Amino acid sequence: MHGIPVSGGIAIGHAHLVSHARLEVAHYAVPAPQIDEEVARFDMALQTVRAELEELRTQIPLNAPQEFDAFLNLHLMILNDATLSTAPREIIAAAQCNAEWALKVQLDALLDQFDQIEDGYLRERKADVIQVVERVMKVLFGQPGYAPPANAGDEKNLIMVAHDLSPADVIQFKQHQFASFITDLGGTTSHTAIVARSLNIPSIVALHHARQLIRENELLIVDGTQGVIIVDPDPQALAEYKLRQHQWELERKKLKRLRNTRATTLDEVEVKLHANIELPDDIAGARENGAMGIGLFRTEFLFLNRDNLPGEDEQFEAYRQVVREMDGLPVTIRTYDLGADKQINGAVSTGTNPALGLRAIRLSLSEPQMFLAQLRAMLRASHYGKLGILIPMLMSLPEISQAMNYVALAKKSLEDRFIPFDRTVQIGGMIEIPAAALAINGFIDKLDFLSIGTNDLIQYTLAIDRTDDTVSHLYDPLHPAVLTLVAHVVKACNKAGKPIALCGEMAGDVELTRLLLGFGLRELSMHPARLLEVKQRVLTSKVRDIVPQVGKMLRTGDPEKLRTMLARLND
Ligand code: PEP
Ligand code: MG
Repeated sequence: MHGIPVSGGIAIGHAHLVSHARLEVAHYAVPAPQIDEEVARFDMALQTVRAELEELRTQIPLNAPQEFDAFLNLHLMILNDATLSTAPREIIAAAQCNAEWALKVQLDALLDQFDQIEDGYLRERKADVIQVVERVMKVLFGQPGYAPPANAGDEKNLIMVAHDLSPADVIQFKQHQFASFITDLGGTTSHTAIVARSLNIPSIVALHHARQLIRENELLIVDGTQGVIIVDPDPQALAEYKLRQHQWELERKKLKRLRNTRATTLDEVEVKLHANIELPDDIAGARENGAMGIGLFRTEFLFLNRDNLPGEDEQFEAYRQVVREMDGLPVTIRTYDLGADKQINGAVSTGTNPALGLRAIRLSLSEPQMFLAQLRAMLRASHYGKLGILIPMLMSLPEISQAMNYVALAKKSLEDRFIPFDRTVQIGGMIEIPAAALAINGFIDKLDFLSIGTNDLIQYTLAIDRTDDTVSHLYDPLHPAVLTLVAHVVKACNKAGKPIALCGEMAGDVELTRLLLGFGLRELSMHPARLLEVKQRVLTSKVRDIVPQVGKMLRTGDPEKLRTMLARLND
């Protein structure tokens, strides 16, 4: 099977089927003699949740709004309805499968029915059904049932096979050590793919039918570099890929030797190679790979997979941890880029075009309390190291003024409480909307530094949804319009003496390193696993030779020619 390669390397292991994005559910056969036990396990889980909901009802404070009771009542009704309490028992028996899977099958059927409902109010009850099912699932996960096949227990040999995964799902994988993961949907710069890369395991997206065709526990080879899966390989293929896996590991080991080498070109041009991180714990990987700073901390991941919002103190601790662990090296922390494919508390995206909707700074400006809490937390952390604040998705100058007003308010509230912070903290903006790239001069005047987010810049320039696998083959970082925009922004910033970085996935693509150096970029931020390979390319490049070639590339509108020229540049 072929898909889009997301993260390189080779994994050999057993398939573990993952279900719907919201629920990670294993599917395994339960032998006939154990079916009654499995049904009993399901019944027990229902009873536990029933008791939990009843208990919650007794704990409602007297002054709580009446809706609380009605809400719990509704959840109890959903739980007791035969569609959830009886149908899964029948599925367990008929399909001889585990309880979680039966519940999942029934949930999917119900959700399909909900989608057909015309009444808006009733359609929205879908979320309640999901919440109730999730409660039951949680109980089931905690209860030992019929043990799945022995080797499935060893995470390191497991290849997660999913139809779709949200960034919130994948970030949870960080707590595991799976060998690899593959999905049917997704694009190469979707946030799901980005988090996958940070897991540093081979992964592939856009496989279309993998989830349907691959069976639980089947042996798989995942070639994350080529984007190829081999299902149930013969001994010859297995031996060949074991050899390739070994070679890949040797390459990685060799690269490790560059960890402490300065990233300078053959003609002594210094390049700052920084890391992108999603959670404070990613710092370890960044340091291991010799990152000289954090160019992008995607703080929105602190907001996912939880029922409440992280408060100012919790955020402060997280930001301070990063700043401290980077030990005086620069750390650029981005204000949350929530909305679109990263929704708080698993909410479904609203609006017809979520990527064009209330996202990133737009959401921040519409939620001042949440934004201010984050700004205060960042400012407080700035006292402990070198911290810059980065604002995502800027489109207009009034947005910058409004954001700056909030920064001033956050500073004032800290001053009033005598809480220390770095008064020279730099405020930067992300250039990821074509309008901002074209009107860059106005942005330069208002910000201390800029960073180009090519993942979104490409999405918006080419009108390609970065999460949509059906158009991912059209997603092209080498489109002349994209190159022109990036080069234009870099040139304008360099002319004005304004620091400019690039932190989209292009920064970590070693085939593009020389091109970006030729544009005049001297700071690239990428996921840690890419740092050493990019450094190796920097060390073998000569800017003086690159610049004229890149100039010619910018002048050609012919994609074929451009690719030939790129190959020559990388020779
Ligand atoms: C980008 O858009 O290039 C970027 C770095 O931000 P994100 O991938 O988080 O949208
Ligand atoms: Mg972006």
